[in-house]
Amino acid sequence: MTTETSPVRLTGLTREELDLQLAAWGQKPFRGKQLWSWLHVKLATEVAGMTDLSKEFRELLGQRTAPLRPGVGRHQVARDGTEKWLLVLADGETVETVFIPDEERGTLCISSQVGCALSCPFCRTGTMPLVRNLTAAEMVEQVLHVRTVLSRAGQGEETGAEGGAGKTAGGGKASSGEEKRITNVVLMGMGEPLYNYEATVKAVRILMDRNGLAIGTRKITLSTSGVAPRIPQVMRDLGVNLAVSLHAVRDEVRDVLVPINRKFNLAALRQAIMDSPLKSGRRITWEYVLLDGINDSLEAAAELAAFVRGIPSKMNLIPFNPWEGSPYLPSPREQVVRFQEVLHHAGLVTVIRESRGADISAACGQLKSF
Ligand code: SAH
Ligand code: SF4
Repeated sequence: MTTETSPVRLTGLTREELDLQLAAWGQKPFRGKQLWSWLHVKLATEVAGMTDLSKEFRELLGQRTAPLRPGVGRHQVARDGTEKWLLVLADGETVETVFIPDEERGTLCISSQVGCALSCPFCRTGTMPLVRNLTAAEMVEQVLHVRTVLSRAGQGEETGAEGGAGKTAGGGKASSGEEKRITNVVLMGMGEPLYNYEATVKAVRILMDRNGLAIGTRKITLSTSGVAPRIPQVMRDLGVNLAVSLHAVRDEVRDVLVPINRKFNLAALRQAIMDSPLKSGRRITWEYVLLDGINDSLEAAAELAAFVRGIPSKMNLIPFNPWEGSPYLPSPREQVVRFQEVLHHAGLVTVIRESRGADISAACGQLKSF
């Protein structure tokens, strides 16, 4: 009698887990290194393409493992070169992932959940219910998918994109043979990563593996709405950059804008940051979306400066990206600049985040997959 076991998702295994899995299948240890390289360096999209593995081993993998990539739904390219993919998961659920190319770097914004349990009223993802957590494999595969597409586009292959930037990903760059690359990964897509803790930690460890995708801790940023008890833990476990969606420094305002504040208020959030190990030279990124007449007064700016005093900080002012039905308006540009000046005068590094990909609803807070 044979017992049925569900297929193994190779993309969700750490290097150590892969070795253990291979040992359980009675395979020699050197296979681990070979397979890891096929998965994360050579970016094999299917086992059949791993040509230097023996036929028997490929057959075994073919029988016992799940597909290495999600299905791909819509792919759009914005006028500014930002690209968005709708990915179709094995159970038919969908998530979005966004690539933002820049002169010097390429940032991939990945999702951690289908939907979100928190309902921040300015965020389009917050209008979706939480459907489920993503697995580590589903997070890693967002990076693998986009890396594969970009490397193929760099070799001149078409990507099947809709939208303004031409047929190959990145238009000009790709056609000149220059490959666009993912240099940074941000967990700022759909979902609250700290409410999907284990899978997030595992996925980030896989992304960081030096013999694999090799994305360093300085190149990975995890954004949280403020799940205070998990913050010191994730800083210890991963040591990546932390971004905190602050948006208000008065509890009565933040209770509305970021409803998780009713559970973990500003004092608890600040204490969690104080309790977190911060590597030397690193700063906490504070995200602050500017909403007209709600949190954009110059008093609010002064209070914000006072709130972060004593914490190595980088302020990230986010112009609000409206979406159909959104109940807020963006602050006028002059007000954003005045707000920034108050923070500058307080000695804070403050940048205004440029909105990218808004024409394909790929900008911060515009993601929604159904
Ligand atoms: N759930 C996590 C990570 C995803 S949200 C978090 O909330 O931090 C990523 C960032 O986009 C957050 O800072 C969020 O506040 C911001 N955001 C959400 N909706 C937005 C919108 N409509 N315009 C601009 N930024 C938005
Ligand atoms: Fe969820 Fe973050 Fe959007 Fe809030 S801002 S609803 S926590 S994804």
